[in-house]
Amino acid sequence: MQNVNAINRRAFLRGTLVGGAGLGMAAVIAGCANDPKASGDSLAGTGAQDAGATAAAPSWEVAPDPIAAEDIVVTHDFDVVVVGAGMAGCTTFMRACESGLKAALVEKTDTFNARGMDCAAIGTRIQREAGIEIDKAKVVNDLVVSSGYKVNGDLIKTWADESGRVFDDLTDMMQGMGYTVEVYQSDTANMEGDGVWYRTYPVTHNFGVAELGNGACNQTMVSALVDRGVAAGGEVFYSMPAAQLLTDDAGAVVGVVSKGPDGYVQFNAPKGVVLATGDFAANPDMVEKWAPMLQETANSVYTPKGANAGDHVNMAYWVGGSMQKGAAAAMVHPIMGGGACGTYAFMRVNKDGKRFCNEDAPLPGITNAYMTSPGHVVWTVMDADFASELSQMTLLSQYSGSTSGPFDPTLGYTPEEQMEMCLETGASVTGETLEDLAAAMGVPADNLAAAVARYNELAAKGADEDFGKDAANLFPIARPPFYASQVTAALLTCASGLNVDSSMNVCSAAGEAIPGLYAVGNAAGNFFSNDYPMVCPGISHGRCLTLGYVLGEQLAR
Ligand SMILES: Cc1cc2nc3c(=O)[nH]c(=O)nc-3n(C[C@H](O)[C@H](O)[C@H](O)COP(=O)(O)OP(=O)(O)OC[C@H]3O[C@@H](n4cnc5c(N)ncnc54)[C@H](O)[C@@H]3O)c2cc1C
Repeated sequence: MQNVNAINRRAFLRGTLVGGAGLGMAAVIAGCANDPKASGDSLAGTGAQDAGATAAAPSWEVAPDPIAAEDIVVTHDFDVVVVGAGMAGCTTFMRACESGLKAALVEKTDTFNARGMDCAAIGTRIQREAGIEIDKAKVVNDLVVSSGYKVNGDLIKTWADESGRVFDDLTDMMQGMGYTVEVYQSDTANMEGDGVWYRTYPVTHNFGVAELGNGACNQTMVSALVDRGVAAGGEVFYSMPAAQLLTDDAGAVVGVVSKGPDGYVQFNAPKGVVLATGDFAANPDMVEKWAPMLQETANSVYTPKGANAGDHVNMAYWVGGSMQKGAAAAMVHPIMGGGACGTYAFMRVNKDGKRFCNEDAPLPGITNAYMTSPGHVVWTVMDADFASELSQMTLLSQYSGSTSGPFDPTLGYTPEEQMEMCLETGASVTGETLEDLAAAMGVPADNLAAAVARYNELAAKGADEDFGKDAANLFPIARPPFYASQVTAALLTCASGLNVDSSMNVCSAAGEAIPGLYAVGNAAGNFFSNDYPMVCPGISHGRCLTLGYVLGEQLAR
């Protein structure tokens, strides 16, 4: 066993520095071109992704030979083993330990991993103190509807029912460490928006953002969760990628074998193995099979780069598991490097200089437009009045504030300053005439002129007869200089995974639960489908924390 405390301190410092970039400009600078093959390379050969691959068949379809007993250098006995020290795995580990189980946390990299800052919950003490009341059933229904009814509403209801008490525990923990816990952007939430894509609920909690900032706040919280698990008797094994599951004669999962620095290590876990290995976005074959839209993103800002190779998919399939049936939901945000000016509801055109949609769209509406546009070219077109028009825009759909980055006041720059930054990086271009602007954009000048003329006609009429945008957000493009800002799409995570039931048991394609095998966090499916729903900003973390906590307790019963 490793020296857990020493590793924790060192790993925490490293994690803070490396993973500190959250949403916003820093995240983009840290990002890489979205080549899953390239990003997967950094950890190639360490995990389950290699074990079963052949030239002819994808890795998950061909179970490798079991690792021979003589190749096992050490065997550990635990009640449960949690595979993956992300937010979901660390929470499951912590709560399993505190519920009386002897638990191990087994992680591929040399530290736990966390990022971002938003965590969604309903019915917390912090919300009650702020006088926030939320119609829980309406939220659950909105989340189910936004997936196209392709998720397990029972799992979502568990999040809605349990997140209050879970977050109260986390709030006590973080406040006890001297950090602020608050509900973020509750003033701009829009619970009565017209339709699910135009609503946002005040569910977003920040744990220590005020003191620690984006990224470091969640790393601090996850570090504390690991420490709680260790204090309750758990053991942590870093640099220990899980490679294969162990099953008994009846097919129940009873352990896992990892590939440690000194050879294979066997972890016996008669009460269950929890796969909490994140998503599969760094595995090109899995992306091709289950989430081909990810190939259309501009870059990936996931950290730790390459760790999300879909090892859980291989391991689960080899023992009879399956993938969620609903289409994958990816978290893709229109983040741009060097400042971001392209995502508010100004007119947008494609590479032909033609308008193609209602621009007043939630984040998936913006990034999906990028991913499906010919040549991945989408421009937002504005005139010299963009800053004053921005302040007149009605509340846009779903959290189009700081996550999308455009003219984000929390970045500390005025809209004009952000535009200047975009001009410097090339994310924006400008022209004294529309013809100049078209040349700078590389789109046909006559098409752009026609699109602007039509747009101005609709603005004068006060009705978007072409694409149905709210007239309050139709501003004429008339006063030079003119500006155009590129819209882009950065991949954060793919929030879709294994077919699990309401108990988070991994199931076969026929829906039969595999005894002893569970999945949580992004490794688990049936919680999101089609698109990541911004109706509850931070629900990815909210799910990891809540369902991880609930699963840790459930395993002890
Ligand atoms: C920049 C950024 C900002 C974000 N901000 C937010 C936000 O504000 N709110 C929000 O809700 N969501 C946010 N997200 C998404 C969110 O971070 C993830 O969806 C969520 O944390 C996933 O947690 P997880 O525990 O399921 O997986 P991960 O955090 O991906 O952790 C999986 C862990 O498993 C390990 N692992 C992989 N394979 C193996 C193996 N074979 N053996 C052992 N270990 C293995 C990995 O190394 C990793 O430590 C953000 C994402 C990014 C990239």
